[in-house]
Amino acid sequence: MPTPPPSTLTVLHCSRCPTHLQPDAVHQLCPTCSAPLLARYDLERARASMTAEALAARRPTLWRYAELLPVRDPAYQLGFGEGMTPLHAAERLGRELGVPGLLVKDDGVLPTGTFKARGAAIGVARAAELGVRRMIMPTNGNAGAAWSAYAALHGLELGVVMPVDAPFITRVECVATGASVALVDGLIGDAGAIVARAVARTPGLFDASTLKEPCRIEGKKTIALEFVEQLAWKTPDVVVYPTGGGVGLIGIHKALGELREMGLIDGPLPRLVAAQASGCAPVVRAHDAREDHCEGWVGGQTAAFGINVPKPLGDRLILQALRATEGVAIAVDDEAALRAQRQCARTQGLFVCPETGVALAAVAQLRESGWIDAREVVMVISTGNGIKYPDSLPAPDLITLSPADDWEWGTLA
Ligand SMILES: *Cc1c(COP(=O)(O)O)cnc(C)c1O
Ligand SMILES: [Zn+2]
Repeated sequence: MPTPPPSTLTVLHCSRCPTHLQPDAVHQLCPTCSAPLLARYDLERARASMTAEALAARRPTLWRYAELLPVRDPAYQLGFGEGMTPLHAAERLGRELGVPGLLVKDDGVLPTGTFKARGAAIGVARAAELGVRRMIMPTNGNAGAAWSAYAALHGLELGVVMPVDAPFITRVECVATGASVALVDGLIGDAGAIVARAVARTPGLFDASTLKEPCRIEGKKTIALEFVEQLAWKTPDVVVYPTGGGVGLIGIHKALGELREMGLIDGPLPRLVAAQASGCAPVVRAHDAREDHCEGWVGGQTAAFGINVPKPLGDRLILQALRATEGVAIAVDDEAALRAQRQCARTQGLFVCPETGVALAAVAQLRESGWIDAREVVMVISTGNGIKYPDSLPAPDLITLSPADDWEWGTLA
C-alpha cells in the first residue's frame, strides 16, 4: 500500500488568545493565557492529496489521515491497528427508541477497549517524536490504560494517577503495561492537582493531562474523519457523545470544520449533543444557563465513571461546539443509562459501556421531547466496550446443574 503523504501541520494556536507557536517543539498550555492549544494544518495542501479516491487505497487505520495528524515521521506512526471501527445500523434498537435511522460507531473494539486509544495513539507518538521520555497523567482509568499501552509500544515511561474508585481492570492494565500507578482517594480533579504539582517539581516531565498537550484531541478527532468517510462523505443529522472532559466532542467539531474547509463535506454540520450523567453534569448546567464556561460540579457521582469530570478544562470549547452546531447538552440518570446499556445488548448483541448507555438514554429522551425527529439519522458514539465494566450489570441469578441434570428449554433463567 502507498505510504501516506506527510503531515501538513503548520502551527499551534491558542484556543483563546492570538498566540501562535512553532509546532515542532514540546508545548503544553498557552504560555500567555494558559488556555488549551490547538493544531492547525495547511488544508489547501492536505486537500490535494487527501481525496476520497486516495483514501480508499490506504490502510484501514487512523494513520490513513496522516495529512491531518501532527506526527511527521512514519517511524513514529506505530500502533495496534487502531481505527476504522465499525459503523453499525442499529435498526432494532433504533425502532425501540423511535429513531429507525440510529447508527452506532463502535469504538469498543479499539485496543484497550475504549475510544481513548485514538487520543493515546497520536498523543504518545507525537510526544515520542518530539523527544519526550517521561510523562504523567490523571485519569478516570481508561485514558491511563490506553496511554500506558502506547507508552510501552514507544518505549516511554508513564506515571498515572487515578481515583481509587476507577474501574479495577484499568489499574491492572496500567500495571501490566509498565506504568507507575498511584491511586487517590478523591475524584479526577484531585488526581489532576497531584499531577500538576509533580510536573512543576520535575524538570522534563511531560504533562499528558487532557488538553494540557495539543495532540490527544488530534487523535480523538479521527472518529469524525472515519464516520464521514464511512457515510460516503455525508454527515448524520445528530451526533451524540457521552461527554466528560469533552475532548471527543471538541475533536469531532474540529474535524468536521477541517473537512468542510477542504470541501470534502458541505451543508450544515450535524447537531452535536453532549450527553452527561445527572450525577455530574457541569456542561448541561452551563449550556442551560447560556454560560460560556462551566462552574465546577460538587461531588460528582455516576456509574458511567469515564464521564465523571466535574470541571472540564475544555469547557469553553465544548460549549462553543454545541452552540455553533445548534446542539444541546442533556443529562440522564444512571438508571436510564444502565437500562439503555442492557437494551442495546439485548437488541443488537452489542455490549457497550455505561457511558454509551448515557448517550443512548439521551437519544430516547431527545426523541421523546421532539428535539430529535423520527426521520433523522442519529449517530451515537460508543466510547467503550461493556466487557471492561463487568459489574455494571446486576449479577445474573442462574441455576447450577449437576452433571447428571438435563437441560430443559424454558426452565432456565
Ligand atoms: C473518557 C471517556 C469518555 C469521555 O470522553 P471525553 O472525550 O473525555 O469527554 C466517554 N466514555 C468513556 C468510556 C471514556 O473512557
Ligand atoms: Zn492564549
